[in-house]
Amino acid sequence: MRTSIVPTSVGKTKITDPLFGAYVQMVAHQVIPYQWEAINDRVPDAEKAYCIENFRVAAGLQQGVHRGAIFQDTDLYKWLEAVAFCIAYGEGEDFRPIADEVIDLIAQAQEPDGYLNTYFTIECPEKKWTNLTEGHELYGCGHLIEAAVAYYQATGTRKLLDVACKFADLVDRTFGAEDGKCHGYPGHQEIELALVKLYRVTGEKRYLSLANYFIRQRGGKPNYLLEEMAGRKGNNVFPEFAEYDDKYAQTHCHPVDQTTAVGHAVRAVYMYSAMADLAMEYEDADMQKACETLYRNIVDKRMYLTGGIGSSGKLERFTTDYDLPNDRMYCESCASVGLMMFSQRMASLTGNAGYYDTVERALCNTVMAGISKDADRYFYVNPLEVWPDNCLPSTSMSHVKPVRQKWFACACCPPNIARTLASLGQYIYAQSDTALYVNMFISSQWNTTINGTEVKLDMKAEHMTGGKVTLTLETEAPVELRIRLPWYLRSPSLSRDGGEETLNVENGYAVVSVCGKTKLEIGGSVEAKFVAANRNVRADVGKVALMKGPYVYCLEQVDNGENLASIFVSPAAPIEELAPQQDLPGTLPTLQVSGRRLVQTIAQQDDLYGDPSFDVQDVTLKAIPYALWCNRQSGEMLVWMHAQV
Ligand SMILES: [Zn+2]
Repeated sequence: MRTSIVPTSVGKTKITDPLFGAYVQMVAHQVIPYQWEAINDRVPDAEKAYCIENFRVAAGLQQGVHRGAIFQDTDLYKWLEAVAFCIAYGEGEDFRPIADEVIDLIAQAQEPDGYLNTYFTIECPEKKWTNLTEGHELYGCGHLIEAAVAYYQATGTRKLLDVACKFADLVDRTFGAEDGKCHGYPGHQEIELALVKLYRVTGEKRYLSLANYFIRQRGGKPNYLLEEMAGRKGNNVFPEFAEYDDKYAQTHCHPVDQTTAVGHAVRAVYMYSAMADLAMEYEDADMQKACETLYRNIVDKRMYLTGGIGSSGKLERFTTDYDLPNDRMYCESCASVGLMMFSQRMASLTGNAGYYDTVERALCNTVMAGISKDADRYFYVNPLEVWPDNCLPSTSMSHVKPVRQKWFACACCPPNIARTLASLGQYIYAQSDTALYVNMFISSQWNTTINGTEVKLDMKAEHMTGGKVTLTLETEAPVELRIRLPWYLRSPSLSRDGGEETLNVENGYAVVSVCGKTKLEIGGSVEAKFVAANRNVRADVGKVALMKGPYVYCLEQVDNGENLASIFVSPAAPIEELAPQQDLPGTLPTLQVSGRRLVQTIAQQDDLYGDPSFDVQDVTLKAIPYALWCNRQSGEMLVWMHAQV
């Protein structure tokens, strides 16, 4: 029997880090109120959500039609999940009455048999479960379950959990391998990982079995979703599904046999997360192997430096190995949230700290970049290079927005970022029956109990600003602590109450036994450096990017002028770390390097082409963390710079 590693519950943590702490506070005090206004259509000049209105119509409280995307209900569910996490860490009580009221509304919109989806209830109740490819009913059920589990864990109240169980029970009666049941599965994976959560909180094995059914059934022949689509004869909800193929929703073969990350990136990583959960629950070595293979394919060949995934704007999907274009990719915020979820589960499954490199990469870059420093603007698509003039509507660049948006007609990302930041504690700490895990160095406090022993831990992480990571622990009985040593920490060292100790490293964790009041210090340096990409990444050949620790840095026009593509830097150039940018949150330094700018390429500068005639100018370049770009002025942005080689 393996020892399972469980991420800590959010309520046991408090984030004090200058950057993340500010964002977590912002989720409770700005994001939740703002998103409540957005899903009630009260943000001036923002895309309408119609989310709450749809629930009111479905509940019979007002007349009307369903408006907005077919999966709009999930905005409310993800918002509720974020509220639950805020309540859990003691910051969301102001929103509790509103949440309780909207939970009553959800219950009123639920049909007597448990069915809950405002689009089908309002528009076409006779078509329930007939369009699994596009209908998102099971996807919606998944987000309802996740919200319900979080709300139950935060408040102890069962109302939303009962609604979710009633819907899950209907799904269980409707779907399965048995005769007389529908043999389909979701067109957008999500319910699978949610059902595992529901099983863990209720102890009802049938929810786990249902999750297992959905994953096992997927990819069988004949292909359920393709047959369903053929029956609709091109009458699709989503026009772009005219180009639908079996890889889009990862139905080209059984998940356990899949070896490369294909199709729609969010669907993929949500499914892989469920596969990792099932590998753990069923101790299924084949499923674990599939997860490891898929993970390696992503991080070795299909992931951006920023932890973004999804190279194709069209159909928001993976393409082929090393295809990582910087300006027209998708890199959806939700996909990086999903990559965090998958990587976290792989760490729990294997006990290997290395998976947190990817959690951290996605979090510290793409997920953080998805939200503005004032919490009221969002990126859906996260480019590594922006020239605002070519982000034109009705072109192949129309999906790339050069500035964050107030809201989206399809607003999956903003509440997904909110629930992720609100639950950040679960990505920092975990525990098994035998050990406590520190998975990321983010200043915070953690109070937990292991084998009946109360443990208080206070982490001050100053490694990014030249200091140490200090862990102050209080525990009555001996406790094993496993501290992840990240890849970028050079010459790590450990001291206990001022005395140096030998590092004992297992699976990427420094293993330390502590008892009583103990101060541990993790030393080592985190240097800013240049990175290059594998030469097969055509988009980055001959280019370098700047990183410090897990943070990717970028140039912005506001600091470096226009036409950033004309800039060249030497990978040997010294990198100076300067004070943090005053008008940006956190304490991460800005980076300064000397470089050159091509100021002339042809003699007749107004011509489009001509004989090469290069002239350069020395420039001093300033880079800021990618996570914080587009928080001052709009303009060009660039991660990968030409290298002087
Ligand atoms: Zn999204």
